[in-house]
Order: sequence, then C-alpha cells, then structure tokens
Amino acid sequence: MPIINRIAEFHDDVVAWRRDFHLHPELQYDLPRTSGKVAELLREFGVDEVTPGVGRSGVVGIIRGRGTAGRTVGLRADMDALPIRERTGKPYASTTDGKMHACGHDGHTAMLLGAARYLAETRNFDGTVALIFQPAEEGGAGARTMLEDGLLERFGIEEVYGLHNMPGMPAGTFAIREGAIMASSDKFSIDIEGVGGHAARPHMSVDPVIIAANMIMALQSIVSRNRDPLLPAVLSITSIHAGSTFNVTPREVKLLGTIRALDEDVRRFMQERLCEMVPKLAEGFGGSATIDYEVGYPVVVNHGNETQLAAQVARDVVGDTLVDPQTPPSMGGEDFAFMLNKRPGAFIFLGNGSSSELHTDTYDFNDSIIPAGTSFWVRLIETALPLR
Ligand SMILES: [Zn+2]
Ligand SMILES: [Zn+2]
Repeated sequence: MPIINRIAEFHDDVVAWRRDFHLHPELQYDLPRTSGKVAELLREFGVDEVTPGVGRSGVVGIIRGRGTAGRTVGLRADMDALPIRERTGKPYASTTDGKMHACGHDGHTAMLLGAARYLAETRNFDGTVALIFQPAEEGGAGARTMLEDGLLERFGIEEVYGLHNMPGMPAGTFAIREGAIMASSDKFSIDIEGVGGHAARPHMSVDPVIIAANMIMALQSIVSRNRDPLLPAVLSITSIHAGSTFNVTPREVKLLGTIRALDEDVRRFMQERLCEMVPKLAEGFGGSATIDYEVGYPVVVNHGNETQLAAQVARDVVGDTLVDPQTPPSMGGEDFAFMLNKRPGAFIFLGNGSSSELHTDTYDFNDSIIPAGTSFWVRLIETALPLR
C-alpha cells in the first residue's frame, strides 16, 4: 500500500499550509496565528470536535470513525518555531525577523492537518482519533502542560504516536526502534566564586578561571570514568562567562551545560555525580561553587507493540527497504517523552533528505516527504482501529 491517492490529490494544499506556517513562525506558547489556523482548518474539514486552549495554546481535534466501538488513539504534532534568523533565501522564508521554523514543526503540523482532512472525509476506522497540536516543544514542555490540562482524560486517549523529520536520512524513509529512541535532556548552571584581584599578584587571589578550567576537564571524567561505558551519556559545558579585561582576576565564573542519557538511572547518576563534584572541586582550589540543576525532558521510550505497529504501517506506506526498525537512538531531546510515560505509543523519524541540520538557519522542511508522513498517519489509524 503506497502513498494514498486522495492524499496525493491534495498535496498542493498541504504544501501551501506548510509554507504559510513557515512564513509566520511563532514561539513557545505564543501561537495565536498558528493555533487559530489549525482550529479553523479542522472545522473546515468537518472534524467532530475542535477544542482550542488545551495546555494554554494547544488544539485538539476529535474525529469519530464509522464504527465507534474502538479505542481512542492520539496523533501528535508540534506547532512552535525557534528564535533563529532565517537564511534559507526561500520565497516562503520567515517574515518575522529572528523567528524561524528551523525544526520542521511547520511540516509536522501540515502533515497532521492533511491526515485530519482525509480521516474526516473517509472515516474508515472503528474508534476515535484525537489530533493533538502541541505548543512549546522547544524547551517549554508543552506536552507536559497539555497533560496537566487533562489532555488524556478529557479526550479519553489510550495510545499516542508522534513523528519527527530527520535531516540526513533519505527523504521519505522511516526509522524507529523499540525502547529508548531519544535522550533525556537536563540543563544546569554552575556559579564558581573565588577572590578577585590584580592579575599580576595571583597569590593574593583565588582564581575562579583556573577552577572553571579544571572543573570543565574534571567533569568529563564522570562520562569517561564513572559511567558504565555501555550506557550512553553526554555531559557538555556549553557556555563560560568570566572576567572583562586582561589584568584583573575576576571574582566569579558562570558555566552552563546539559546532560543527556538514554536511561533514567544513568540520568540520575550523572546528576548526582555532577552535583557532588562541583562544590568539592571548587573547594579543592580554595573557592566555592553552587550548582542549579534543572530536570528537563525524560528519555523518549517507545513501547514494544506500538513500535511494531508503527514500523509495519511505515512498511505498508513506503515499502520494506525504506524502513529501519532498529535505528540507533538520538541523543537529542523531545518532550513527547512525557506522553509516552503516560500512555503506550511510539515516536518515529521520517527522513528529510540531505537538508541542513535541525536548528540551523539554513534548514528547510522537505515538502516532498509530506505524502509519506500524511499517509503514515492515516494508515496508522486504519490499521490500529480496523473496521470489522
Ligand atoms: Zn527542535
Ligand atoms: Zn522538533
């Protein structure tokens, strides 16, 4: 079963929606135009219920099948863009300076709208589809906010699926794996305090720059010497702020960083070890340090049966050879993890071809993969909720 004909017929419409979202990117929870257009299109398609304002600016559409005995399955797309100045030079490039759809959420939203249109037209399934359009995936935990607003209970959602485009994977191919497919994503800031002074008299001060330099190196030993090498983990220091001139030893240094892991125990271990080492390292040099650790998105863990179903549906859509059912996990984060912690489901990657990487100013969602993504959603519903 290749790309569905009817979906190919309205491909131009989906591309037009995608490019319209791309022209008008919005950030985090502040999505009046995007969520407004999503709700308007869902109503136009004849979706049974459209509920805006779920989790502040999320939108949920409900479509009931010809049969109503079946389960309720949730399909999720994210709607938010990034604070990046676009440099694609495309005719549909962002019209808002400093905001850009650089993660392809414009494409995710458009593909799910395409599926909504088809499913509302045909309704060849037994049960209910909940179309989940989510705000604030980029660091704002919009998935968690929708859950806290009763998403699963209010709409009776029993299973959830998510999809993300992936640059570097051939266009229109799928990749998935059972178990951890994306990493947990936590962040921390470290404040190191020494004693400032004249840079010519180092013995009269406690140099926080030296403490920071040693700390940055020493913290990597958590990864290389403390962690089980068979269990992936990343610790990155991503920002250093210290001093302002050449002849003054500063009083303080601020470091920022992130920890990623594919296992919740490893994640906790990394956090504990980091928080334990930071003050002791600083004390060893005669200074002090405090750490502020912020627990972010959990590990994205795909459930067994739902992963098999999603892989089978992907094979039905694009053929066996274009689906990798055992793809290596990504150390990137995704707040869909919160949904998979509450309900069985799966998260799948869709190849975006040889485009620029996600979160770069030259990234562009590949419109040619829309029929594969939309057909995947539709077939997933018709397969998970078959008419008897
Ligand atoms: Zn992103
Ligand atoms: Zn994304």
